[in-house]
Amino acid sequence: MQTQVMIIGAGPVGLTLAAELARFGVRVRIVDKAPARTDKSKALVLWSRTLELMARGIGTERFLAAGFNVGAVNLVSGKRRIGRLELGAVETPFPYAMMLPQSETERLLEERLAELGVVVERNVEVVSVNADAAQAILKHANGTTEDVTADYLVGCDGAHSITRHALGADFKGETNSSDWILADIHMTGYPAPDSELMIYWHADGAFAIFPIGPGHYRVIADQPPSGAARAPDPTLAQVQAVIDRRGPGGMVASNPVWLAGFRINGRKVARYRWGGVFLAGDAAHVHSPAGGQGMNTGMQDAQPGLETGAGAAGGILPCWWKQTFARRCTPAASGCSGRSAMWAVRPKRRTRSRPIYSACCPSCTAAQKRLLIRAKERLQREPK
Ligand SMILES: Cc1cc2nc3c(=O)[nH]c(=O)nc-3n(C[C@H](O)[C@H](O)[C@H](O)COP(=O)(O)OP(=O)(O)OC[C@H]3O[C@@H](n4cnc5c(N)ncnc54)[C@H](O)[C@@H]3O)c2cc1C
Repeated sequence: MQTQVMIIGAGPVGLTLAAELARFGVRVRIVDKAPARTDKSKALVLWSRTLELMARGIGTERFLAAGFNVGAVNLVSGKRRIGRLELGAVETPFPYAMMLPQSETERLLEERLAELGVVVERNVEVVSVNADAAQAILKHANGTTEDVTADYLVGCDGAHSITRHALGADFKGETNSSDWILADIHMTGYPAPDSELMIYWHADGAFAIFPIGPGHYRVIADQPPSGAARAPDPTLAQVQAVIDRRGPGGMVASNPVWLAGFRINGRKVARYRWGGVFLAGDAAHVHSPAGGQGMNTGMQDAQPGLETGAGAAGGILPCWWKQTFARRCTPAASGCSGRSAMWAVRPKRRTRSRPIYSACCPSCTAAQKRLLIRAKERLQREPK
């Protein structure tokens, strides 16, 4: 029997989509060229809206059991707190930022998918896509190729998507020239409870600390452009130097789990559907990591949040797949890009302006956004 939906890529978005379709009885295949899941923490936060959608289908229990809840975001200038977001004020059953490394999110999604009877086919690379016929050529680990035609084909194959290239879709946007550093480290001297996130507004640039678990943190900060082909990975000593200069002092980093350099891209396709072919997740839109939007918007693309799968069981793809998906995912992604821009705060304290780390999140209430704007205005009024 022909595959109804062929999913290219088993990152968090492909896995979410496969689970969402499988629970409505849609015949799904999901392939990934990598031999194993990522072991990197990459996206750390599952936001309230993503959890709300998961609660309707995929289920949240195993994620909540594995995650670590952050209940507040502090905005600090020097040693002075100039703003605070209480995530508990968000009207949702999940009023917190749930910290869970992406490697764990993917592991739990794959576990759920297996319960629904779908196994990820790994070491299987899509080497070409015929967009007109929802057809792909797969290359297996032993070198054999397979020609697959499905009713629908979904490219969840990340920022360098072969599907998007095959469609010839423009990926319009920009790459920020700043280099960024990311460090997953252990640390002593964190000046707040581990259930709170810290964003330091420093004239040198952005500096934010996300608790991953007790004594374990993600640090990110921007750096002047290096001009190198890719942003250099930092050393632990460089990370410590940033912590000392931009933080309040007293924090000592050790035992790095992951040290990486990255650059910020903001890009988006103009539409998500070309006949029988769709794009979702990073294949369709990439964001600044500010606010933890990339994975969350992608997972929201893949969960239209329907209560029933009317039509799916009858062997016809549900109407939401044809209509609702394409309508809903566009606002999720573009709304976030807009908010990201809104929160890119540039203090007037130096002639060189620098974007400050965004506290945007897909769950921010209007009151919380006003609070952030007030904090920004207060910072700008401060004596120089
Ligand atoms: C350093 C770093 C930090 C980040 N931090 C955050 C964060 O804090 N918060 C956040 O929300 N996001 C963050 N992100 C972004 C987040 O990781 C991505 O948004 C997320 O992984 C997108 O999921 P995806 O499933 O769309 O794509 P991906 O995770 O990229 O998965 C794509 C999959 O497709 C497979 N694939 C690709 N091409 C093919 C092919 N031809 N054939 C078969 N398989 C293929 C790949 O092997 C991969 O498994 C970060 C990313 C990086 C690199």
